[in-house]
Amino acid sequence: MVSSFWAHACEKLGGMDGDYLMQGHVTKESIVEEARRLGAEMVGFAPVERWERHGDLPEDFYPHSVWPLAKTVIVLGVPVWLPIVESYPSQLGREQYTVTNELLDEAAYRLAAYLNRHGHGAINICRDGYGDSEILLDNPAAIFSHVWAAHYAGLGQVGWNHTLLTKAHGPRVRLVSVLTALELAGDPMPGEELCTRCLLCKKICPAQAFTGDQQMRYAAMDKTACTRNGRRLRQAFRNPCGFCVKVCPVGEDRKMFQSTNPQIYFKEGKDQAGQTENPVYRSWRHIRRYGGKPLAEDRGEK
Ligand code: SF4
Ligand code: SF4
Repeated sequence: MVSSFWAHACEKLGGMDGDYLMQGHVTKESIVEEARRLGAEMVGFAPVERWERHGDLPEDFYPHSVWPLAKTVIVLGVPVWLPIVESYPSQLGREQYTVTNELLDEAAYRLAAYLNRHGHGAINICRDGYGDSEILLDNPAAIFSHVWAAHYAGLGQVGWNHTLLTKAHGPRVRLVSVLTALELAGDPMPGEELCTRCLLCKKICPAQAFTGDQQMRYAAMDKTACTRNGRRLRQAFRNPCGFCVKVCPVGEDRKMFQSTNPQIYFKEGKDQAGQTENPVYRSWRHIRRYGGKPLAEDRGEK
């Protein structure tokens, strides 16, 4: 049903009611179909009560802090391809990051437009809602967590390293959220534990941003150290870092891309010293050499 708000707004616009607002029933199925048509590979629904019920975040980061009328959060996701993630830090990785961000932001805007056209108020929250990584140095939190929204929408689970772990792609997914005033049933949240607490993410992190052990549900994270590392890589056009994403053993994509041994990332230095020869290492070196600027670690200085 078309809300009186929109009917009034369209009347003000000069009788565009018939042009802009479409009658028709919006369902979860029709939203999923539209989201997929717009490029989302994953779609999940989270009623806003889940933020309060689970209490994982301060209230400041509940959906109603962004928009008080929100009833449901629709989360869209796309995977990033493991072989490109494995080349991090690389310019190719940076391009993939940019493309997936732009795709998600456009899909979320268009999905909000689809809902609004049908008379159900909706807004999209942009992917990187913090503005710039420099700002995170003073204010280490974005306005809204797409990771926790995806967790509540049943797309995966938050792992020890604070990323969303999914069965299909592990933490190698990018996410965005749409808030709507439409009440929709939530998707089931997975009960199965995905994080193995291997702590490889802690071991590989070049900024030593994670502290804690396997007994902790989530690592303590030094976000400033992570941001500083990201800034260094960005100056070389080779951000994001994402080492904690590439090393994670969770995800069926590891089988698909025939890369099931995360220890390979720890042995790359030895290969560069000529102790082993591996075509995969050669491909990473190629990608890094012909994109972005050299880093100290490329010269073995770090
Ligand atoms: S690398 Fe290991 S500890 Fe870290 S998130 Fe993945 S499974 Fe969990
Ligand atoms: S992105 Fe890099 S610096 Fe940041 S936590 Fe992950 S591994 Fe550490």
